[in-house]
Amino acid sequence: MRIIPKKRSAARETLAGRGLRTTRARRAILDQLRATDVHPTAEWVFRQVRRRLPRVSLGTVYRNLRQLVGAGLLVERPDPGGSRFDANTSVHHHFTCVRCGRVYDLTEPINPALHARVAPRTGFTVHYHRMEFYGRCANCSSPRTRRRAAWRARA
Ligand SMILES: [Zn+2]
Ligand SMILES: [Zn+2]
Repeated sequence: MRIIPKKRSAARETLAGRGLRTTRARRAILDQLRATDVHPTAEWVFRQVRRRLPRVSLGTVYRNLRQLVGAGLLVERPDPGGSRFDANTSVHHHFTCVRCGRVYDLTEPINPALHARVAPRTGFTVHYHRMEFYGRCANCSSPRTRRRAAWRARA
């Protein structure tokens, strides 16, 4: 399993290309999402965008996130802790770290054989699928982190 090292920067879809007017807030929100791979929550996006646009409201951020999802420029993923947003709109699998909560993109290929198995069993038409992996990310499983965790557990 490989972690995608960096966001693909090839041929970015533009706001205008998806029929959305370019406002400063919308531009800032999309830029922020494209500059990160942490799959952030709306609150996180709000905190980041507010540094650039101090007058932006959380409501504006929510509304624009929904519009960007509706236009296909972002993908919303339901998460127990609230929705998270992803500027990587290709179908891909995710790894969620159960310790730090970070969500990583994975390059594991999509397996079309799964579609072929699921479809006849259910009678459903499968368009695509995504798999969710859970565990500890490399940062959280490093010996240093483990030592710290052990020390905390003893304290
Ligand atoms: Zn982690
Ligand atoms: Zn992703």
